[in-house]
Amino acid sequence: MKNISFKAKTTVWITALVSAVCILCVIGIVLMGIKLSDNQIEQSLISTVESNADEIEYKNGILEIESDFEFYKDGIYCDIYSSDFEYIGGETPNSLIHFSDFENGKIKKTEKNDNSYLVYDYRLDFSRFEYEIDVFSGQIIKYEANALASQNTSPAEYSVTYFENGINTEKAIDIALSHAGTTRENTTVIAAELPGYESRQVFRIEFICSEPVYDSIWIRGLIPSASAENAFGNVGKAFILIIPLFIILAAVGAYIISKKTIKPIEDIGRSAHEISSGKDLSKRIEINSDTNEITTLAKTFNEMLKRLQISFESEKQFTSDASHELRTPLAVIKAECEYALSGNADDNDKSVALESVLEQSDKMNSLVNSLLYLARTEQGMQRFKLIKTDLSSLICEICNNFNSEKGIKLESKIENGIFINAEPSLIYQMVENLLSNAVNYGKENGYIKVSLYNENSNIILSVKDNGIGIKEEDLSKIWNRFYRTDTSRSGGEGFGLGLALVKQIVQLHGGEVKVDSVIGEGSEFFIIFSKKV
Ligand code: ADP
Repeated sequence: MKNISFKAKTTVWITALVSAVCILCVIGIVLMGIKLSDNQIEQSLISTVESNADEIEYKNGILEIESDFEFYKDGIYCDIYSSDFEYIGGETPNSLIHFSDFENGKIKKTEKNDNSYLVYDYRLDFSRFEYEIDVFSGQIIKYEANALASQNTSPAEYSVTYFENGINTEKAIDIALSHAGTTRENTTVIAAELPGYESRQVFRIEFICSEPVYDSIWIRGLIPSASAENAFGNVGKAFILIIPLFIILAAVGAYIISKKTIKPIEDIGRSAHEISSGKDLSKRIEINSDTNEITTLAKTFNEMLKRLQISFESEKQFTSDASHELRTPLAVIKAECEYALSGNADDNDKSVALESVLEQSDKMNSLVNSLLYLARTEQGMQRFKLIKTDLSSLICEICNNFNSEKGIKLESKIENGIFINAEPSLIYQMVENLLSNAVNYGKENGYIKVSLYNENSNIILSVKDNGIGIKEEDLSKIWNRFYRTDTSRSGGEGFGLGLALVKQIVQLHGGEVKVDSVIGEGSEFFIIFSKKV
């Protein structure tokens, strides 16, 4: 996976995720479907058997099965068995007759010949009786017994009706009970009424008997349970066939999404490659108006390029300036040596030439030393370790050792006990550079004022002179390496590295530099250290 592109990785991950979710959903749907379908099948098995129970009754003492009894309906077989579990009738294949033990009102799952079946047994206890008795003769017109005992079992509140030359309600009840072979104690009369037939008048007596009068009958409902599993098994199989299609679709979708997401990053990469291969640091990545992670990345990248460009160009400038500064003394050395060796030079000329060579090599030496110093301070903290330094004492010592050929006087005003974390040799070099500039660009018999003091959270070192001053347009440039103002160039002494070194030293100590100057009146350089550093 390590060497695979980000786009490919994203595609693989999204595809795997989507496929896993799809597969889990399919499994879930199939399992739920099977469960739901099982429940549905169980319910329809129970309702088919129980509605068939309505179709069996004893009429006038004879067991009657109504024509509405459904022996086979929607895959469900309904068979009738006697109370001794003798098969009475049905349409079940022979192999399934007496297929398992009977248990009233329970759904069972049973296996037979590698097939599984749902079985529901329902026992019909004929405990509800209905009689019609002639009101005059007391003769039983018809009687029935059925298994609907649970439907209405509350005792009837009936009024007793008398018929002249006939029987009354109580008598009719007694006739019915004695015919059924039961007594009032074992029965609950639930209806005793006169239905009011037109042809003849009868008492209709209905009662529930708690003792068995007729033999029970069993209805057995049976359905292959595999039908539900098969139905959903087929759905599952269909899904299994569809899953590869799902995966392909997910992969295509994931590829499109990752391609779209990664495109702006690819654009940045392409621009970066063009910039790096063309070595043109001035080129920038195009950024649209959106604000998002990608444009932020592109902006950061452009800022980095800008800084790189500045740093690269200043390095280039530095190298060209350094070679330029070295070329002049080298050219002089070469010319002097050629003249001394030419044969035209007498001893005096040769010694003048040698003096000139020495002078130029001193100049080169000083330039190389300054460059080395700059390079060292550039390495910053890697090279120097800052220690707690008594800045007041250090500046005092430098001022005390000051000595100028130009008759310049140095006045110092130094607050005692100012400490900073510093590298003393660098601070020494920094003050030396400022003082030598103040002398070089100062007037004969002028002055230099050095002050060190606390100001709020800062420590300020100021070096002020009443020298030639600096033009306003030069003020920002004098800190650049090899920069010299027109006025100083004609003087010819320095290389334009002194202030650059000062700035670098100050920055290494976490401070900053400032200059105020008025041309013809003098300059004041400020070094500002923060006490917090
Ligand atoms: P240099 O070796 O030329 O003195 P610096 O980096 O020390 O180089 O100074 C850069 C330029 O800043 C100088 O060439 C000079 O023109 C100007 N400068 C620096 N210090 C002073 C000063 N105290 N008064 C006037 N000009 C100054």
